[in-house]
This record gives sequence, C-alpha cells and structure tokens, in this order.
Amino acid sequence: MSQAHPTAGLTRRRLLAAASATLATLAVVALPKLVFAQQKAPFGLPALPYGEDALDPVISARTMSFHYGKHHRAYVDNLNKLIEGTEFMNQSLEEIIKSTLVNPNRTAIYNNAAQAWNHAFYWQSMRPGGGGEPSGGAKERIAASFGGYDGFKKEFSAAAATQFGSGWAWLVADKDKALHVLKTANADTPVAQGMRPLLTIDVWEHAYYLDYQNRRADYIAAWLDKLVNWDFVNANLA
Ligand code: MN
Repeated sequence: MSQAHPTAGLTRRRLLAAASATLATLAVVALPKLVFAQQKAPFGLPALPYGEDALDPVISARTMSFHYGKHHRAYVDNLNKLIEGTEFMNQSLEEIIKSTLVNPNRTAIYNNAAQAWNHAFYWQSMRPGGGGEPSGGAKERIAASFGGYDGFKKEFSAAAATQFGSGWAWLVADKDKALHVLKTANADTPVAQGMRPLLTIDVWEHAYYLDYQNRRADYIAAWLDKLVNWDFVNANLA
C-alpha cells in the first residue's frame, strides 16, 4: 500500500482534501453551540472559521486583523479578568450573559461576555462565497415570515442601517417559532432574552470603517450579497 500508484496517491489526496473540507464545514457549524453551551472560564478566543483574508474584498484582512485579533480578543481577555474569583467562573458564557443582564453592578461583565458571544456568532454568520438567497429550511421559514427573500433583505438592511450608533442587527427565531429581524445597541444580544439567534451583522464602526468609512449601507449590501452563511442559519434552525 505504501507503494501506491501515483494516480492512487493523487486520488487519496483529493479524498483527504474533500474529507478535511467536510470537517471544516462541520467545525464551522459546531462552534457556536460549543461556545454558548459548553465553554467555561477561562474563555478562549474561538478560532476564526476561515483565514483573515478570506472575506476580502467585502471585508479586508486589515479589518479582520483588528476586529478579530484586537477587539474580539480584548472582550475575551477583559471578561476573564473581570470574572476571576467570582461565581461566574463556573458558568457558561450564555449563563453569564443571562445572570448579569439585570444586575447594574455587573454591567462590565455583561458587556464583555455579550460581546465575546456576539463576535463568535458573527464570524460564523459569514463565509467566503456566501450571500444571496437562502436554501433549505431557511428559505421556507423566511418565505413564511417575510413573504420571501426580498422582504427579509429589506427588513434586515433597514434594521442594520438604522441602528443608531454601535450595535447589531439579527435574524432570530422567537418562542413562537416565527422568524424576526431586530436590532440591538452596543453589546446587547438576543441570547439574553432567551431568543434563538440565527444570523447577525456587526454594525459597530470598527466592523466596516477601514473598508467603507461612513458608507454603512454599502457594507450591509455587500455583506448580504456576498457573505451571509445560510448553512449556518440552517444549522441554527435545526
Ligand atoms: Mn465588533
């Protein structure tokens, strides 16, 4: 077997490449569940599901290096420092978000925990070569809730564009099973409200300013057309 014909070797390499691509896809969809269901302190910076330059030119490698390498890392590092020696050491990220939401003395922990969660979810919400119309379950649920992709796109774009100042726009499944678009300010996250997030776009200026300056609408349009990871939405619906 070690003296396999070169053609067999090539085939095997192709198979291995296909297998690792499949594994990579699985890892992409598995990460958020690990992040909010299992991980406990000290929290790590979740690996990006693609290279820092993979979303270029919609989102440049320079934006990714600051956004992921500096901003996201800082939220994770700050959270770990803030919860050291507290009761939050034994809680998952999602538990920390929920238990600090209503406590005015825990705002800093809430903000950093929520931002750590939101960013891990945002990286998964995108993929190289994504965007456009959904397929599978997402397509059906979007048709039922928004009358079709165009209705969703219009509502999601408007939410992202009109979030005043820093924040996020989301596609969520509420307890009534209907899909909704909503926007949140600063670190706020639908996870804290017990909703099930399906997709998010970061509209803090740090997400787009190096590439789009003040043209947030251009960032949103390019994001929807070229980056949305509908496989991730479908995995979250499952
Ligand atoms: Mn951000």
